Order: sequence, then C-alpha cells, then structure tokens
Amino acid sequence: AALSKTKEVDLPGGWKVGDPVPYAALAKVFSLIEATTKRLEKTSLLTSFLLLVIRRRAKGDTQSLLQAVYLCINRLCPDYVGIELGIGESLLIKAISESTGRSMSVVKADLKKEGDLGLVAMNSKNSQKTLFKPKPLTLPTVFKNLKEIALSSGHSSQNKKVSIITKLLASCQGQEAKYIVRSLEGKLRIGNAERTVLVALAHAVVLAEQESSNKRSSKEKLTERLEEAASILKQVYSELPSYDLVIPALLDVGIDRLQEVCKLTPGVPLKPMLAKPTKAIGEVLDKFEGKKFTCEYKYDGERAQVHKLEDGTIAVFSRNSEDMSKKYPDLMEQLPRCIKDGTKTFVFDAEAVAIDKDTGKLMPFQELSRRKRKDVKVEDIKVRVCLFAFDLLYLNGEPLLQKDFEGRRALLKEHFQPVDGEFQFAKASDCETTDEIQAFLEESVKDGCEGLMVKMLEGELSHYQPSRRTVNWLKLKKDYLAGVGDSLDLVVVGGYYGKGKRTNVYGASAPGFSDEALQAHYEALKSLEMSSPRGDIKVGGAKPDVWFEPKVVWEVLTADLSLSPIYTAAQGLVEERGISLRFPRFIRVRDDKAADDATGPEQIAEMYQRQALAQSKGKKGKGGD
Ligand code: ATP
Repeated sequence: AALSKTKEVDLPGGWKVGDPVPYAALAKVFSLIEATTKRLEKTSLLTSFLLLVIRRRAKGDTQSLLQAVYLCINRLCPDYVGIELGIGESLLIKAISESTGRSMSVVKADLKKEGDLGLVAMNSKNSQKTLFKPKPLTLPTVFKNLKEIALSSGHSSQNKKVSIITKLLASCQGQEAKYIVRSLEGKLRIGNAERTVLVALAHAVVLAEQESSNKRSSKEKLTERLEEAASILKQVYSELPSYDLVIPALLDVGIDRLQEVCKLTPGVPLKPMLAKPTKAIGEVLDKFEGKKFTCEYKYDGERAQVHKLEDGTIAVFSRNSEDMSKKYPDLMEQLPRCIKDGTKTFVFDAEAVAIDKDTGKLMPFQELSRRKRKDVKVEDIKVRVCLFAFDLLYLNGEPLLQKDFEGRRALLKEHFQPVDGEFQFAKASDCETTDEIQAFLEESVKDGCEGLMVKMLEGELSHYQPSRRTVNWLKLKKDYLAGVGDSLDLVVVGGYYGKGKRTNVYGASAPGFSDEALQAHYEALKSLEMSSPRGDIKVGGAKPDVWFEPKVVWEVLTADLSLSPIYTAAQGLVEERGISLRFPRFIRVRDDKAADDATGPEQIAEMYQRQALAQSKGKKGKGGD
C-alpha cells in the first residue's frame, strides 16, 4: 500500500543534479502534507521528495539529504545537542513588519484574526508589490540561517535575529514565508511525526537503490523490502538517534549494512526501553509463563542514562535525551567514585532519586522536581541525589543490547560499586510466586517507591530493546492497581475559558486546581494558542474555546475508561466510538516528555480492553487481586 501511493509529486523549481535543493520544493511538499490527515499519504509525499533529493545530489553529498530531513522534523541537530528553534512572537512580528513595510499593530491584528503567524507572514508578503523577483531560497541557505538564529545569544542577539529573519523573509515567494515563520516558531503544524519521516527516509533510500541497480522486483517483493527497510532504520535510529551519523552511513553503505556500522555509541543517548502497565499481580505470572523473571523496585525519580566516552568525559541524559550534566553537577562529581578500575567506556540506565541528606531515605519525585534545570551550583543544592542503576547497555567498547538481562546485570555489578547515598544497584528479588511478588511490592512502597518493575531475565526476550514498550518489562504501580493500571500522559490540545473569577485562565470546570496552578498552566499554554486544531487532530463532539499547539504533556489519573460518543481517543481501535476518562485527575506536568511520547491510541485501547477483561472476570468471581 505504501508503494502504490508513492507517486511523483509535481514540485516547483525543478533542480538539476548537483544544484542545491530549492526551498520552494520543500514548502510545496509541506503544503501537500498539511492538506491531508492520512498518515500513508503524508509518508508517500515525503518519500517522493526525499527520493528526489537523493537522486539529484552531487556525488558524495550527504548534506542535502541531512538538511532536508532536519527541516522536515523542524530540528537543526540531534536532540542531545540542544540547539532549538522557538523564536518569540514579538521578534517575529517585528521582522514581518520590517520586511513587508506593514506596521506592527496591523500584523498583530492579523495574527489575532488568523491565529497563525506563518499565514500572516505569507499573506503580508503576497499582498506586497515587488519590483524584483528575489533570488530563490535554497535548503542550505535556509538551514544555515536558522542555525545562526538558534545559536545567537547574548547582548545584541535580538537585533541580529530580527535582521536575519527580515532578510530571509525578503527572499520568500509563494508559501515559503509561511513555513519559514512556523519553523522559526518551533511549530511546523503539518502533523509530521518523526516516525513518518523515518519511514519515508527508509522508503526513499530503497527506491533509490532500486533505480540505480536497474533491478525490477515484483510489487509484493518491493512492499516487503520497504517494510523491512523501515524497520531496520527505526531500530538503528533508536540505538543511535543521530541523523548526523545515520544519514551519511545510510548513503554510504545502504540499508542492509546499516546495522553493522551504526551501533550504540557512548555520547549519543539511545531511546530508553519502556514498560507496559499491569493491573493485577496475577497478570505478571500469566505474562511470563514459566520464564525466569526478576522484580526490581520502581524508584520514583527521573530516568538517567549515564555515559562514559572514549575521551573520559562523563555525561548524564534524561528520558528525552537532554543533556542533564548542568542540572546535576553533584552527580557529575559523585559518579567517578562508583566506577571500578578497568571500567573504561560504558552506558548504564538508572533512576536519579532525591534522598534525605540525614536519614538517606528515599524522597518522592516532587523533591527532585524542585531543582533548577540549568546552571545549578553544587553549593546551592539542597536535595541530595542518589543513582539507582538497573541496566548496563555498553561496556568497554562493546554494545550489550543483545545480551541476556541476567548477564548485563552481572556485568553491572562487576564493574561498578555501591557508594552510600550516591550510587546503588536497584533493589531486586527474583520472585517466583504471587505471594512473593505481593510481599516485595509492599516492601517497595514502604521504602518510598512507586511499586515494582518486573523484567524478563533470560533469552532473547530479555534483550534491551531501545524505545520499545513490550511485556518483557512490566510496571506494577501500587496506587494504580485499582484503576486502569497506570496513569496516562496526555497532550493538552484544547481548553475552555474559566468562569466567574477565573475568566483570565483556562479551566471552566477545574475543581482541584489552585488559582496559582491555573495561572501557571495559563502561562505555559498561552503562547501555544491556535484558532483551529492542527490538521492531524481528530475533532469529535467537543468544541473547546481555544486550541493549542500539541506540546505540553500532563500526567493524568483516571478512575476508569469508558466509551464516548464525543471524544475521539483510540477511535476505531476498540469500536466506532472513542474512549474518555472517568473522574480524571491532574497529577503533574511531564517536562521530560514530548507530545510524541504521550500515551498513544493503541495503549489506550489496550488499557480499555484489559479493564473490560478484569471487570468480566470480577463478575464471574475470579478476580480478587
Ligand atoms: P513510560 O516511560 O512507560 O512512558 P513514564 O515515564 O511515565 O512512562 P513509568 O510508566 O512510571 O514512567 O515507568 C517507567 C519509568 O520508571 C522508567 O522510565 C524509569 O524512569 C523508572 N524506573 C524506576 N525504577 C526502575 C527500574 N528498576 N527499572 C526500570 N525503570 C525504572
């Protein structure tokens, strides 16, 4: 299906082999992608574009494909490098006004009407009479300018940014201004998930390989090959999430040998393995079906992936691949003490947990979240942090992902040593019966943990699977056993204005939120307001007063899930109707998650089905745990 839809798209600015890619071609593809909500169509449009970029690149050029991919996901470098777009509205309004000669107040009024600064920029440009046709923008020029803007900081950076943006806008034609401005804002609004880009990239490379080898394969064969390529690329990227490294390798050795050259590398944080929720202890034994497993304390802190590079540098990364070395100078100072002699390069997976300075007791996540995220000075730190290591992924030059967990755990213990209040191995017990699990669960909660993680110990199923959420890791959260087994991470996409005293905030019926909390949410969401929902959002019967750019993630607890004629979550997966939450309760903002990391429709459907199953068992009198 993917292939039959990969049709040639008619792109403007037809360019010759070796020429830089015209930005107009990308803008056209963006507009086509924006116009459809169908994932397959989005993928096929992107595939056609990337295929053209590959076909027409000069020999040995890897940059054009790299830049095209980065612009498609609206980033400039790998996540962990932390150069981000996200220019404030006022700077952009100033630049739009300067480059089009319209006053700032007129631009602001337009923005109010349109709700999208990109559209305002495009309309302002197109209503302007120009004598000379500007020189067409190219991908390298746009990329270079965006990077320069993102990197400029300090004293006179505002003026510098405005001046670069003004010049860029002056060169825009057609729809270009719309996408340049949206890129700058940090929100492309075309519903292009990173997964789509990865699949399109894999497909484009396969189609290009096929063209150059002049071999024709049957439609079935090709479809199979495309699927295989997408799965290889996704796998490689989850181990080595850096297009800077993966794309040149892909163009050099092709898809089949990619796994040989692109492997987990210290310094490049990999996407963490994730767990599935369980609703009952009995379920654990069902899922592991006589296989050897282990239970570990589920610590209530923040995930920390610790790397030691070839050159001796130590780095700590968050769940979202953010470099946390600046947030945790104390950890950086503590870490060398837990590394045994002979342990040179490594990557281990751990939870950073706040502990009481005097008693050494574990403290809840809230304590940790009080820490500043940047420029933390060791002498100002009030909350002490201890690392609880639970997995070893790389050791002395060797990735360990394909090794049994039992073996990885043994190596972890062999090469590191506990240091009181600084570094510990996650407390584990290789339980075998429901009673043992129950007892260990109680103990974990008494010690200040959220519950247990249950993990496969032996065989292929115990390998570390980056970015995958499988039953080989189960989470058993004490508080949620009564509900659906887990809290949900939801993206805020719409809101209602408050009533009565609360008209200046969102939340028409928001009991349980303090005025300060409502104010804080308002401030966090205000700049994300949009007048209509983003293209890929399924709108059901609910019509909020405002829509938001999907960005902020909230952790929410629910009593249970029910089918809904109004809401659209997981629509079509369980049945025609979508699924909604009963008695939702806000727990916290998840700064460490991006919209793409939120609980997905398949997960919601799974939770709903598990809940229905538990209910029917309960009725037959079989439940009880
Ligand atoms: P998810 O990562 O599953 O999307 P989440 O970030 O909300 O969800 P949880 O569902 O609570 O986290 O569970 C997984 C997290 O638990 C891990 O990402 C890790 O930070 C934490 N954790 C604590 N102890 C352990 C442990 N022993 N093994 C693995 N993870 C642990």
